[in-house]
Amino acid sequence: MLDALVIGAGPSGSRTAWNLAKAGYSTSIVEEHEIVGEPCQCAGLITPRTFEYLGYRRPVSQEMNGARLWGPKESFLNFQANETKALVIDRPDLDRSIAEKATDCGADLKSGHRYLGHRKSSNGIIATIQSKSGKIELETKMLIGSDGPASRVARDAGLSSKREVLAAFGADVEGYQGIDNHVDLFVGSELAPRFFGWGIPTGPNTGRIGMATVLPDRPKNFFRDYFHKGAPSKLLGGAKIINRVSGLIPFGIREPSYADNILLTGDAAGMAKPTSGGGIYSGLISADAASEVIENAHQKEKFDSKTLSPYQGLLKERIGGELSKGYHLRRAFLSLNDDQLAEIISILGEPKVKSAIEKTGDLDYASLAAFSVLKAQPKLIKFAPLLLKPFI
Ligand SMILES: Cc1cc2nc3c(=O)[nH]c(=O)nc-3n(C[C@H](O)[C@H](O)[C@H](O)COP(=O)(O)OP(=O)(O)OC[C@H]3O[C@@H](n4cnc5c(N)ncnc54)[C@H](O)[C@@H]3O)c2cc1C
Repeated sequence: MLDALVIGAGPSGSRTAWNLAKAGYSTSIVEEHEIVGEPCQCAGLITPRTFEYLGYRRPVSQEMNGARLWGPKESFLNFQANETKALVIDRPDLDRSIAEKATDCGADLKSGHRYLGHRKSSNGIIATIQSKSGKIELETKMLIGSDGPASRVARDAGLSSKREVLAAFGADVEGYQGIDNHVDLFVGSELAPRFFGWGIPTGPNTGRIGMATVLPDRPKNFFRDYFHKGAPSKLLGGAKIINRVSGLIPFGIREPSYADNILLTGDAAGMAKPTSGGGIYSGLISADAASEVIENAHQKEKFDSKTLSPYQGLLKERIGGELSKGYHLRRAFLSLNDDQLAEIISILGEPKVKSAIEKTGDLDYASLAAFSVLKAQPKLIKFAPLLLKPFI
């Protein structure tokens, strides 16, 4: 009988397993892919805070201190901060490094194994796992669903609720004409309706580009347009796709994110930020909260949903406030048409507003910049009075 069985060796699953193995609990991680981190479904942009939170660093290919915002009707803005705001990392390397921390502490990693389902047992849960040599069963006191946006654990536990899901499509390209240390962002109905597109330089001539949108719009079609029209084509003239990336980005914390003997972490629990789609940092926060609640349950030897319920409160306290402000910002953004977006971009270019963004812009805490922008230019509230109210 295991103390904990974690499904998924993404950042949130491996961090949970790392914590629990370090605390002395017998822990297994089941990962369906043979190689942790592959295939990559990420643009690999994190804040420096993420490494601080993890407690160690990994190689960085670029430090970002600026952004170019390409909007509808030729609107454009160039931001330049005085400090590093984001790091471009090798995402598969990050995932492997966290999984290694877990195995170094004694967790057992079963890669190439897929979780198929579970049933209750008298002592806990029995999970059915598909291995290359057939089906196996693992009994555990706690099952942790860290199996990403389409979490099967959440579905099997009856924890799936309706939520907004973005489809993302991207590629590593050669011949990207971005600027070192600058992210390119694209907004507007033509190229990236209802979310945004990105271009991230990774080396002298290489970059990661992509966009996400809400189905039924197909991101692939918009992605194709990147090469032919609009601002990005200027950056992509003659660029060649080296490797394609795609995936889903769900928004909305699952409530509850726990059931008897079960907790969800990361994207499975709805940790992605509605402003940027980033979910690595917030997924790590959920992993730490989950581990604390699981350790407490082990101390009490009680794994019922009531004992696990403080998890929801910890999520709210540590990241929920920011995620909820992120929804307000997202809804305000969704209410805008291209003309309004272009007008807003021109207002954001006013020196005092621009400098507020350059100072307070933070990928993990977008609400800080939203607040400082509204303070610098209150007339922006006219674009979505009710939705932006939490920021004033
Ligand atoms: C195109 C794209 C770009 C992104 N860019 C960024 C970015 O730049 N920065 C950022 O912070 N976030 C980004 N994100 C979001 C980020 O990738 C996720 O929020 C993050 O990966 C969530 O981590 P996780 O551990 O919860 O889940 P995941 O990283 O999705 O890990 C889940 C793991 O579970 C495994 N799994 C799933 N089902 C099973 C099963 N049945 N059995 C066994 N294993 C299973 C999967 O193989 C996977 O390894 C991006 C997302 C997309 C789609």
